[in-house]
Amino acid sequence: MSIQENLQNIKATLPQECKLVAVSKTKTNSDILEAYQAGQRLFGENKVQDLVAKYEALPKDIEWHFIGHLQSNKIKYIVPFVSLIHGVDSLKLLQRINTACKKINSVQDILLQVHIAQEESKFGFSYQEISELLASDYQALYPFVQIKGLMGMASNTSDTELVQKEFSKLHKFYSNYQKLGFEVLSMGMSNDYPLAVAAGSNMVRVGSSIFGARNYH
Ligand SMILES: *Cc1c(COP(=O)(O)O)cnc(C)c1O
Repeated sequence: MSIQENLQNIKATLPQECKLVAVSKTKTNSDILEAYQAGQRLFGENKVQDLVAKYEALPKDIEWHFIGHLQSNKIKYIVPFVSLIHGVDSLKLLQRINTACKKINSVQDILLQVHIAQEESKFGFSYQEISELLASDYQALYPFVQIKGLMGMASNTSDTELVQKEFSKLHKFYSNYQKLGFEVLSMGMSNDYPLAVAAGSNMVRVGSSIFGARNYH
């Protein structure tokens, strides 16, 4: 199926209020333009160098999200144009984003990444760490950062019950913080976005189901 058909099929299953981030990592500009021509304007990348190159080459009404693990020394390349950073996974990174944005006098929207999977390897804060951060005077500590919500990646498993539990727990936790102005709960990828949406996700990050499997060289 074509990129356009894939996009249509996925959008047809998403509730109105759920945003679709088309994850275009490793994909070419012409793949992205095909999605663009089908009306997609929101794209996600996880490598700073690729993101900057694509931003420069592609139409300026594309909204770019950074979805991966961000290295501190590369923050400055993306904060001038990226609209949301999904994977803020440490206080050090939060601090560094704040510093980089202070220099250009702009406020960066971000999501805090919560470690919800059972795998050790995935990045993110624990629930406990997020609670502590949000109980602190974080707006005064990081005035150039606006925390818009939370992001999580479920365990990579065929155990749908486990994935469901992980998403539901994150949604419940997120709901407690809507009073802080949280608007975004980013959870769900190609393999598990229907479960994420059922659990209350309002932003899914879908790559291979739109663009086809990725080829890593
Ligand atoms: C690659 C990636 C996705 C999309 O993965 P697919 O399985 O291709 O949908 C979503 N979120 C993050 C953080 C990713 O790195």
